[in-house]
Amino acid sequence: MFLDAIVGQEAAVAALRQMLAAGRVPSALLFLGPHHVGKRTTALALARALNCRRNDGTACGVCPACRKIDAGVHPDVDVVVPDGQFIKIGQVREVSNRLGLIPREARKRVVVLARAERMNPPAAHAFLKTLEEPPVDTLIVLCAASAAELFDTITSRCLPLRFGLLPDPAVRSLLGDSNGLSAEVLEFAVRFARGRARQELRERAGQWLLIREELIAALARPEGQDFAELTDKSAKWTATEDWRFVLQWLETWFRDLAVLGGGTGSASLINLDREEALWAAQGHFPPHVAESCYRQVLAARAGMLLNANKALALDALWMGCREAVRNRTGGIL
Ligand SMILES: [Zn+2]
Repeated sequence: MFLDAIVGQEAAVAALRQMLAAGRVPSALLFLGPHHVGKRTTALALARALNCRRNDGTACGVCPACRKIDAGVHPDVDVVVPDGQFIKIGQVREVSNRLGLIPREARKRVVVLARAERMNPPAAHAFLKTLEEPPVDTLIVLCAASAAELFDTITSRCLPLRFGLLPDPAVRSLLGDSNGLSAEVLEFAVRFARGRARQELRERAGQWLLIREELIAALARPEGQDFAELTDKSAKWTATEDWRFVLQWLETWFRDLAVLGGGTGSASLINLDREEALWAAQGHFPPHVAESCYRQVLAARAGMLLNANKALALDALWMGCREAVRNRTGGIL
């Protein structure tokens, strides 16, 4: 990836280009911003610019350094990701040990800590030592969603750069570049992405669009057969990772219903392409019911992430939504 090809993060990329042009890249950078907006990709593009044989702050994309970095096999460019839930002390020690040796090929060694906020306290303490005495010709890039989750002693030693949510055209170009998503699936994926170009959108958006239609049909008639059949589908969705989508999408649907009922217009609807269905659902889901259901979705997700029985949790959610609809006029059944 070339720095020039990073989309939607103009401010961060401009700052990096200035550092490269001036030959003043600090020893530690902190890329702050939401997940899936290009922080790690940008860090690797920077690693290329620092190590390409051109040696002028750009990258050729074809020299051994560029190719090895792209393939993830450069001996002096490391990307550390959480091992399970955390980045652990053993991982940090391994990196520190390598940084104590002479670089094998690189002009500038690069260590990228993806999800740096997932360092557990022992790992963070160990890492702090590396940051306090950074080896020469080494760049450390920490990527994190927010600085609040990192020790102050760590953030204070890094130069922060902010990454924002991606604008829709950037998400469209990132998702549209890959395998031929149909126009309908691509537009759904772009709106559902909400500024984050997740890899799974490319792979699953087509399937998710079908699930969305099943959910819209079921929610249109909370007393109907389709709704009752959601229980059967819960088992299917929780047997795969599709339950995550189901909850994320329900969040957008109930949010859209509350927005529409609140009279703020339809421009900000995430499910704008199904605006008609949203209007039709207002009868069963006036704003206060939509809000109640929205909260239930958040609670269900919290429980499911904590390993609650997922199919049971989804079923409880369907029951809860139906109850909220039944009680919408003040509790008279
Ligand atoms: Zn190159």
